[in-house]
Formats: sequence, C-alpha cells, structure tokens
Amino acid sequence: MKQYKCTNCGAVNELQDNQDPTQYACYSCNTPLPQKSDNDGETSAVVGMIGGAALGASIGGPVGAIIGGILGGLIGKESKGVG
Ligand SMILES: [Zn+2]
Repeated sequence: MKQYKCTNCGAVNELQDNQDPTQYACYSCNTPLPQKSDNDGETSAVVGMIGGAALGASIGGPVGAIIGGILGGLIGKESKGVG
C-alpha cells in the first residue's frame, strides 16, 4: 500500500503497490495524483531498519540492534535510490 498526497487539497489517497498513480485521481477533488508516493522511501527505510535490528540483535544484543537498525535504515534508503 502506498500513499499519495494530493497536491491540490492534501487528501491522502492510498493505492496498491502495483497500481499506477497516473491512472487515478484524488478521491476528494479529482486532481490527478502525484507520481511519487508519499511514503515510498520511508517504508523501505523502516523495513530495512527492522531487518537490520533483527540481524544486529542476533549478533550483539541491544547495541547490535541499534547498529543494525541504523545500517538497515541506510540500506533501505539506498535500495530505493535517491528521490
Ligand atoms: Zn485532492
């Protein structure tokens, strides 16, 4: 699920990951949705963070979890690319 914030009225429209936002309009004001999801990068960073934390915890307890979380977040961001 991705969220697309309407550039006109600010309403958040949710689409499935495989749905093309250019094919949809804002449910509230009918303005075409922006092509970039609002929570795209955040989602992958969070996923990476959780994965990294789990990995780090298995290695070095709480400290490992923190380091793993940071690394995982970076990896999640990188994998999505800039912008
Ligand atoms: Zn709108």
